[in-house]
Amino acid sequence: MNTELQQKTGLNCPVCGAFIPATITQLITVSSLSCSHCGLRLDIDREASRKAIDALTKVRKAQDIVQKSSKFNY
Ligand SMILES: [Zn+2]
Repeated sequence: MNTELQQKTGLNCPVCGAFIPATITQLITVSSLSCSHCGLRLDIDREASRKAIDALTKVRKAQDIVQKSSKFNY
């Protein structure tokens, strides 16, 4: 049930509007994503996205903590 609660992460293609799924880890680490719908290649501007990446890094850390504590309580 917990896995169902996990938010789907990703972004919408600026060209066709299709949802491009990407894990938080991918969003932090990869330099580009591609839209499977229209084939657009999206380069991630690390400097411009620094704040967003910082925020995502914090989310990922928080998720790690939640997963560890839920295992512990389980
Ligand atoms: Zn697209």
